[in-house]
Amino acid sequence: MPSALDSLTFNNRYGQLPEYFYQRKSPQSLKKPATLVALNPEVASLLGINPCELDEEQLTNWMTGHLQLRGSEPLAMKYAGHQFGYYNPDLGDGRGLLLGEITNPQGQHWEVHLKGAGQTAFSRFGDGRAVLRSSIREFLGSEALHYLGIPTTRALAVCVTGEAIRREQLEPGATLLRITPSHLRFGHFEHFYYQQDQQGLETLLKFTLDNLYPHLLDHPDPALALFDEVQERTASLVALWQAYGFCHGVLNTDNMSLLGETLDYGPFAFLDFYQPSYVGNHSDDQGRYAFDRQPQIMHWNLACFAQALSGLTAAEGLKASLNHFPELFQKQYRQSLATRLGVNPVTDWPLLQDFLRLCENSRVDWTRLLRLLAEGQLQAAETLLKAGGPGVTAQQVEAWMSSWQNKVDTYFASPQQRCRELEAVNPCVLPRTHLLQQAITAAEEGDFSEVKRLLAVFRHPFTPDGKQPGDLESPPAHQQCLPLSCSS
Ligand code: AMP
Ligand code: MG
Repeated sequence: MPSALDSLTFNNRYGQLPEYFYQRKSPQSLKKPATLVALNPEVASLLGINPCELDEEQLTNWMTGHLQLRGSEPLAMKYAGHQFGYYNPDLGDGRGLLLGEITNPQGQHWEVHLKGAGQTAFSRFGDGRAVLRSSIREFLGSEALHYLGIPTTRALAVCVTGEAIRREQLEPGATLLRITPSHLRFGHFEHFYYQQDQQGLETLLKFTLDNLYPHLLDHPDPALALFDEVQERTASLVALWQAYGFCHGVLNTDNMSLLGETLDYGPFAFLDFYQPSYVGNHSDDQGRYAFDRQPQIMHWNLACFAQALSGLTAAEGLKASLNHFPELFQKQYRQSLATRLGVNPVTDWPLLQDFLRLCENSRVDWTRLLRLLAEGQLQAAETLLKAGGPGVTAQQVEAWMSSWQNKVDTYFASPQQRCRELEAVNPCVLPRTHLLQQAITAAEEGDFSEVKRLLAVFRHPFTPDGKQPGDLESPPAHQQCLPLSCSS
């Protein structure tokens, strides 16, 4: 009987582009023993796989280069991009491969990408590998973002291999199988623009419109219309990051999705306490990708994308469109933050700004604070704020609490309704660094149960049900808002 993987339907549209868009390459076989660390049954279902029919050994073999599925035509995508402000023409899938594109029974297309699949023509000095630590972080982090309602790539599974990989120290090697409708990046367009390859640009534009934005095909100015849509998606993505305290860590243009999804998880983190100047990546000396600079950086990245499109539409139109970014971002950001506090994004903006100032000055765990407010535990919220750092006085806390209460009560029919609506947008749990690290430490010793448990925990972020007390608590002070290694 064929297994679920054998019956996948591949339809590799990117692989039908001219050869100079990629390098054809099969995954390098990884050292055995390889073991499946965790599987995400929901993503299996998205691919049209019944998780009960999935042969885990076959999946592990596929994910570690010991089996090629019929119809899969692996390739490494070529792209370029601006890294830390400087253009780098030599990028591309250096340690990941697009294994192919799967069409599920509902007709949806999913690209399947294997991270850690070995060296390619774009590896430069890298080993083409991924370590277990960062693979687990991406696996759990991306699923958590998805359930918070933040657009992101998703992941099917993680395998640990028998290889030891050299980073700051030797670490277990791993592979991650991730999916998204498209891995196209701003950097794909930048590559052809800086190569001065007009035909390549036109081919890429047509491919992008055909496959991702077909409703723009008949637009009189399709490149500008594409820019507008990508900009809108990017603005709403970063608005959600800011409203939930997500810091990406490496916002280079090669990590910017044309679908407006969170892509290429590196040293990402959620703010434990509200610290706008937090820098997640410990190699980011200048703080270019600090939490509070993310919106500005996304705007800058969009300017790079606009530049890359300038051979396909008039520059004036792109410039005019780009000027809308701050407004698009602010509108969405204020809306998301106001929804978390149950107030009006326009008329209550000063109240929201006061809230952020209080959070910053008190250095409290703002996720916990928001959850307490949502649950109607107002006394506990007030106590938490008052116990914060010396930057806030009791009078400031009391004044803010009473203005908020007076306002919020006018918007909801009853306290019960208020709690119901606010709890649905204020998580009890986030994939915080210390939680992920506990799962990683256990997995590195061969115990994958915590990875599996956290997957289930992050799938229901808005309820305390099914959580352990430690999932809901703030990390100890010495573990809060730590910078992370960018090596992955
Ligand atoms: P990142 O910012 O981590 O998404 O990676 C930037 C570029 O470096 C991309 O072209 C990656 O494919 C490449 N890269 C990252 N890590 C490795 C590695 N270990 N081996 C080869 N290439 C890598
Ligand atoms: Mg990348």
